[in-house]
Amino acid sequence: MMPGPGACAAGLFPAPPPIRMSANTTVRRTKIIFTLGPATESEEMLEKMIAGGADIIRLNMAHAKHDWTRLVIRRIRAVSQRIGRDVAVMMDIKGPEIRTGDVAAPIELKAGETFDFTIKPGGTAGNDVEVRSVDVNYKDLVNDIKVGDTVLVDNGLIRLEVLEKHDARIRCRVLIPGELKSRRHINLPGVKVNLPSFTEKDRGDSTVGLEEGIDFIALSFVREARDIELLRAFLAEKRSKVRIIAKIEDQSAIANLDEIVRACDGLMVARGDLGIECPFEELPVIQRRAVRTCLAQGRPVIVATHMLESMIEQPVPTRAEITDVANAVYELADCVMLSGETTVGKYPLECLQMLDKISRRIEAEEADSAVREPAVFTGERMKVLHSAVVLANEIPNSKLLTFTRHGFMAQGLAMLRPTHSPILTFTPSPEVFRQLRLCRAVEPFLMPLASEPDITIENAVTVLRRAGRVNLGDKLIVATDIVAQDRLVDSVQLRTVR
Ligand code: PGA
Ligand code: MN
Repeated sequence: MMPGPGACAAGLFPAPPPIRMSANTTVRRTKIIFTLGPATESEEMLEKMIAGGADIIRLNMAHAKHDWTRLVIRRIRAVSQRIGRDVAVMMDIKGPEIRTGDVAAPIELKAGETFDFTIKPGGTAGNDVEVRSVDVNYKDLVNDIKVGDTVLVDNGLIRLEVLEKHDARIRCRVLIPGELKSRRHINLPGVKVNLPSFTEKDRGDSTVGLEEGIDFIALSFVREARDIELLRAFLAEKRSKVRIIAKIEDQSAIANLDEIVRACDGLMVARGDLGIECPFEELPVIQRRAVRTCLAQGRPVIVATHMLESMIEQPVPTRAEITDVANAVYELADCVMLSGETTVGKYPLECLQMLDKISRRIEAEEADSAVREPAVFTGERMKVLHSAVVLANEIPNSKLLTFTRHGFMAQGLAMLRPTHSPILTFTPSPEVFRQLRLCRAVEPFLMPLASEPDITIENAVTVLRRAGRVNLGDKLIVATDIVAQDRLVDSVQLRTVR
């Protein structure tokens, strides 16, 4: 179980100053996503991770077979059910990803050596030809790439420069040497790749995901809004309400950031590939800009990759990693994410606890000092929500309470980033309940809504009192419909729990 907010005072360090909004910091506002893999897929580990406070579980389809996918989604649901805590499932589909083919044995690339990428299937690969070569899985690569471009292989570890092109091969010089193994990921910084954004493999993976009831699809290498619209059309065809997370991973995504944020249901700052596709010193600038753009447009945002990378091997993070996680929380991101740390790492549960601990501590700071970003005000309803948040911000220890069928009320409140109030959200929909796991400070509760709004509020307060989430005398800011003169009107109410 998670340690309480006072637990950090127990060690060698002096206790932090008392947390002003102590009553509200018992629940973490920043959400945690972890990627499922060998280190976490067992029922026992899943139980620990879900009970330990994970909000969303990511399946990386680069490595997932369909049988495994079905199996683990069912396992996640069963464990959730058993322990009474539902989490969301995010399927991460790979989009336009270029990979090298198989090599019989790893090829040791030497600095200065000439090396070919062969486009035609069946091109020679291996160590025994004069110019060594490997296949790539994308036949039009030769048209997209120019002489002088950079080719990066295996997460940027190996660097080559294009010397010349022929119909079926791209001749390169090795600049940074390394060992080339089978099926390595290729990055082409600044090259506009004409691969479809939603591939045949993605379609197959998504279909399995929809059949198994996933909650989010994360689309890799989104380059423009149209990529998201293609996926949206596919989902509409399948009558699915799954939400789309756009992963920004390359320079075109940065150039089209505004339209991508507007088109998606949530954004992931995929720092792994971004750090290869863009000059590395741009990374913090891009992260900050992406988070701010999402705040301004009212879209949930995830900061991903390498947050606790050193904890793959070690039980404690580096000081720089602690500060990196803290930075994402200070920036008011909705979620932080774990990848290798929880797929193959030695300390997956410790990683979750570390994110939990750092987030809570920074959130307690932030309640005093955070600057509110202006959000979009598209309609009157948003203005009503805005006034609810203004009221909540002015009343110490207050909690926001709302009711939602599709999630919009809760998301609207979340995008306004209330300084300290949690957003207690009641929905009758299990799907919406799970999707709300994405939104900062939203605490979802599943409950049928009565036809009388007043009775719904009474029922909710009863549930909250039983759950220990509100106490006698607490101030609730209720943003909801009420019936006035036989009509439903938007309202903001200040109530005291009795
Ligand atoms: P990946 O995406 O883990 O699927 O590569 C995340 C990233 O690139 O940061
Ligand atoms: Mn990536």
